Amino acid sequence: MHPPRRKLWETTENGEFAAAQPDDRKPAFLGVRGCDLAALGVLGRVLGNRIRPFIVAVDCTEPGGLCFCASMGTGPGVRGGYDVALTERIDDSGHWFLATAGSEAGERILATVARREASSDEVAAALRDVTAAGGRMGRAMPELDLRELLRDSRTAQRWNDVADRCLTCGNCTMVCPTCFCTTTEDVTDLTGDHAERWEHWASCFEVDFSYLHGGSVRTSAASRYRQWLTHKLGAWHDQFGESGCVGCGRCIAWCPVGIDITTEMAALAAERSADDVDV
Ligand code: SF4
Ligand code: SF4
Repeated sequence: MHPPRRKLWETTENGEFAAAQPDDRKPAFLGVRGCDLAALGVLGRVLGNRIRPFIVAVDCTEPGGLCFCASMGTGPGVRGGYDVALTERIDDSGHWFLATAGSEAGERILATVARREASSDEVAAALRDVTAAGGRMGRAMPELDLRELLRDSRTAQRWNDVADRCLTCGNCTMVCPTCFCTTTEDVTDLTGDHAERWEHWASCFEVDFSYLHGGSVRTSAASRYRQWLTHKLGAWHDQFGESGCVGCGRCIAWCPVGIDITTEMAALAAERSADDVDV
């Protein structure tokens, strides 16, 4: 829904500008978990995407060690916005799926596969397993007003602590399903006859990302990590009316030095509590 790289325009042979043709194919996503379903919604609202993909979503009954969707309110069960929702079942009767249609397109797809009405016991057992998965998440975000915590933590020592570990590689922003920042680049061929403008993903961890009339505003790792976290969990609410984090855990998985967004928020909360005691 937000490609890493796309052409915006190019010059034609007679020196005119031609907009790149938009890719208006309608995608279908299979096996979308609750966190990513929520991320598709967040990204769609931020970018104003008008193409609605066809979505086969899946409830989680076995959460991963880095997941914390339960504490972000996005999983482990999928919550609307799908065409078909599945819950995987493995029991004495074999391996099967409980399926719910969420749209007319979903009903049409389900009508083409072998199926029967689920019993109320089967529906209740599936719901029980999904609810139980919520209690087995490997991580949890502190149960606090995160936006307020970040507002109170502007000058926290923890930013220096995390900056000592952070490589500012930007991996966390590249894998995050809601990060949307981009930059543009103009390229030309060797003859100078043809030029193109490309948009590609950018990261707030790049020094150039905050370049303004002669210099970068956020030159330190501490300020760049603070920017990322404060936008994702705080200012996102002011801009878009919701959190920018869906609890997927990818930024933890892909951080080469093991920085964990839930641990950092817990540390900021502990530092604020200690400051309150000191006062
Ligand atoms: S901040 Fe991390 S856990 Fe939250 S949505 Fe982005 S990648 Fe997932
Ligand atoms: S992935 Fe880890 S090291 Fe890289 S910028 Fe993000 S927090 Fe820093």
